[in-house]
Amino acid sequence: MTGTVYKSTGSWYTVKTDGGRFYECRIKGKFRLEGIKSTNPIAVGDRVHFKLEAKNDTETGVINRIEARENYIVRKSVNLSKQTHIIASNIDQVFLLITIDNPPTFTSFIDRFLVTAEAYSIKTVLLFNKIDTYDEETLLEVKYLAALYRSIGYECVGISAETGKNIDKVKDLMLGKVSMFAGHSGVGKSTLVNAIEPNLDLKTKAISEQHMQGQHTTTFAEMFDLSFDAKIIDTPGIKGFGIVDMDKEEVGDYFPEFFALKQDCKFNNCLHVKEPKCAVKAALENDEVSYSRYRSYLQILDGEDEHYRTDNWDE
Ligand code: GDP
Ligand code: ZN
Repeated sequence: MTGTVYKSTGSWYTVKTDGGRFYECRIKGKFRLEGIKSTNPIAVGDRVHFKLEAKNDTETGVINRIEARENYIVRKSVNLSKQTHIIASNIDQVFLLITIDNPPTFTSFIDRFLVTAEAYSIKTVLLFNKIDTYDEETLLEVKYLAALYRSIGYECVGISAETGKNIDKVKDLMLGKVSMFAGHSGVGKSTLVNAIEPNLDLKTKAISEQHMQGQHTTTFAEMFDLSFDAKIIDTPGIKGFGIVDMDKEEVGDYFPEFFALKQDCKFNNCLHVKEPKCAVKAALENDEVSYSRYRSYLQILDGEDEHYRTDNWDE
């Protein structure tokens, strides 16, 4: 049988078959997808193959194969082993909620998030929430940012989770897909999910309460089918993705507008910092690349606190 993992508690996996039945499944012995070293062999979102085995009166499954993942997000353990935990896989899109005020979301955060999502090959849609609370000036800022990110290729929608404004647009974007919601605490993620699916809230709460008992800080992702043709992966306590280990040369490839220009840079390993004949810097001077995006790029290269040194470039 074939199905999708909806929930995992460590040793048992809840798998929904393509026919719509749920089975509790486990794995026997050592079982790992080649190439990825993680603390968990199977994650929510995985497509798995399993065999049924009768145990007393209940049927449970034994997973014998996992299909290659389209993408996945990880969390690095904080302990010294630095092992990777796969939070979820096969995510079609993530909605990044952004508020200008209350709390403020800075472009440096947005850009860092987008770089990570690009590195994970996950499509991001930007949702500018709480537009019901903004004055004219703040709405202009939303317009400016939406135009900027649209020009790079990201879909942007101004919404109000509170009044329901444009929630139908969000639901349309969710049709037939597996979605996740991200953003700072307080931007309105729970309010939005509740506006999309009013009954899910209770379910989510009930389940996370169960998890609290004896499980201390472990967070489990879980997939939910909505009442319309859409699925969400809920990742309690996770506001963004784990940081990806990236080489400096790679960072620019995850800024789509920089990547598109890269072929015109003189050096094919151009970092767009101090190199001569750099197409990205030329575009920056012509206002074709946004200064805030370029500043975020430099911050990511810098690792924020440590100044990136290009003093020796000419040597
Ligand atoms: P979360 O931490 O991202 O899940 O944020 P919440 O959904 O808990 O929202 C934080 C606060 O913002 C709550 O008081 C919500 O009622 C409020 N809120 C969320 N969305 C909106 C909105 O679109 N408009 C207004 N006025 N308030 C909102
Ligand atoms: Zn360049």
